[in-house]
Amino acid sequence: MYLVEKAKEEVVNTARIIYREGLVFETWGNVSARPTENEVVITPSGIPYEKLTFVDIVTVNLAGQAEEGKWKPSTELPLHLAIYRQRKDIKAIVHTHSSCALAFAVSRQDIPVVLEEQAQIVGGPVKVADYALPGSVELAENALKILGKDGGAVLLANHGLVGIGEDLSTALQICRIIERSARIILWSKLLGSPYILSPGDITELRYNFLRTYGQDNPPANS
Ligand code: 13P
Ligand code: ZN
Repeated sequence: MYLVEKAKEEVVNTARIIYREGLVFETWGNVSARPTENEVVITPSGIPYEKLTFVDIVTVNLAGQAEEGKWKPSTELPLHLAIYRQRKDIKAIVHTHSSCALAFAVSRQDIPVVLEEQAQIVGGPVKVADYALPGSVELAENALKILGKDGGAVLLANHGLVGIGEDLSTALQICRIIERSARIILWSKLLGSPYILSPGDITELRYNFLRTYGQDNPPANS
């Protein structure tokens, strides 16, 4: 029980952050977490982010049956559930409609790796899934084809971005990084064309990051 309550708090906090940071628009976008193997907590459909509190978060099981909550869950529940079913490593999902990522999604162009953050955290380009109606099973299937066994993000054609992770801070971080990369690529195109990092550079950046970055790792030269 405690795990579910804690996850609801985290979902509300993350939803407030994506709204405050302009990663979502009006009531679009959604957030979920999987605190236990068979339980998912998710934002309700169409409730304004400013009004969202702990009691509004809906709990469902992995089959999509309602367990707790007064509201209808997000219309993207099929997408969230499909990801949790396919990817046992994933415990959190953030779906945004952020502007610069959307510029790529509507042009149906992948977001290449031009920055160390994307190489280090996402580990590759963010690809565009084939178009399907929001909330449809087909949308979930198309997104899963791109996410595969180890992808961390997918662009939904003419729709938005999905970031996934082992916790909500990772899923949120991915959405922030991708939006920033997309913005910088667009700016760079005003100056000429951005240099895309090579697969070798990306592998090296990610490897070094996982081995040496932050306080949990030894210094680079040790
Ligand atoms: P919900 O408000 O139902 O979560 O839908 C928003 C959305 O982004 C649909 O793709
Ligand atoms: Zn959406």
